[in-house]
Amino acid sequence: MLNKWEGIVLKSRAYGESNKIVTLMTKEAGKVTVMARGAKKPTSRLAGVTQTFMHGMYMVQRTSGMGTLQQGEHLASMRHIQTDIVATAYASYIVELVDRLVDEGPEPFAFDVLLQALNAIEEEYDPEAISLFVDWKLLPYTGVQPILNACASCGSFDGEFAFSFSQGGFLCHRCFHQDPYIIRLSPTQLKLIRMFYNVPIDQIGKLELKKGTKQFIKKIVTTIYEEQTGIRLKSRSFIEQLERTPILTRRTTNEESTD
Ligand SMILES: [Zn+2]
Repeated sequence: MLNKWEGIVLKSRAYGESNKIVTLMTKEAGKVTVMARGAKKPTSRLAGVTQTFMHGMYMVQRTSGMGTLQQGEHLASMRHIQTDIVATAYASYIVELVDRLVDEGPEPFAFDVLLQALNAIEEEYDPEAISLFVDWKLLPYTGVQPILNACASCGSFDGEFAFSFSQGGFLCHRCFHQDPYIIRLSPTQLKLIRMFYNVPIDQIGKLELKKGTKQFIKKIVTTIYEEQTGIRLKSRSFIEQLERTPILTRRTTNEESTD
C-alpha cells in the first residue's frame, strides 16, 4: 500500500553503502521507520528530504514490516535549525524526546507540538524556552499527568502554591506540611508553568523569559523526567556543554544573522 504522509525527520542513520534508515514522526500514522534506498548519495533525490528536522510530504510503500520511502517533497527545510549551533542543539533535544516518548499509531497532539516547536525555533524564537514548552507538553506521554490547575491535595484554587514531586503537582499553603521537599513558587512562576502546560506554542507570541526563570522551571521539569520516568537524553548533555561555552551562545542571543 502506498501512503502519503506529512512528516518530520526525527533521525536518519546510514545503512549499508548508500541507504538510510529514517525515523519519521508523521501526522497520520505517528512514528514510522522507513528505508530510503540510495539516500546517502548526495545526488539522490531523497538525500535532502531525509535529513534530520526536515518537514515534508513523504510517499511510503508499506506491506509488512519496514516501509520504503519512494518519494519526498520539502515543506520546510529548517535552514536556521540546520546552521545555527544553539538552534540545532535544542531542536536535537526535541526530536530525541519525541522519538523516546511516542510509539507507532496516530499521535496528532505530539505531531503538532513537534511541528510548532521546530517552526518557532526556525523563526528564531528563544530555543531554550521552546524546548521547555515541549518538556511540559509531552509529560502526559511519560504517564505523568501533573495537577496544575488546583492544589493536588485539597483542590483549592487560592493561596500560595509550591510544586511537590511526591504529590505530582501544585500544593497550596494549607497543604505544604504534606511534603517536606516542596519547591515554593512565586505567582509568576506558577502562571508560567500553567502556561507551558496548557497554552499552545503558537499562541504564546515572542515570549521573553529571564535566564534564571527558565533555569528554575527547567529544573522542575527535568527532575520529573529524570527521577520519575528515568528518561535522560543524550542531547541534554550537549546543551549543558554549550551552556558552559558562552562564546558559542552569545552570537545567537544578539540575533545576528549569519547571512
Ligand atoms: Zn491544598
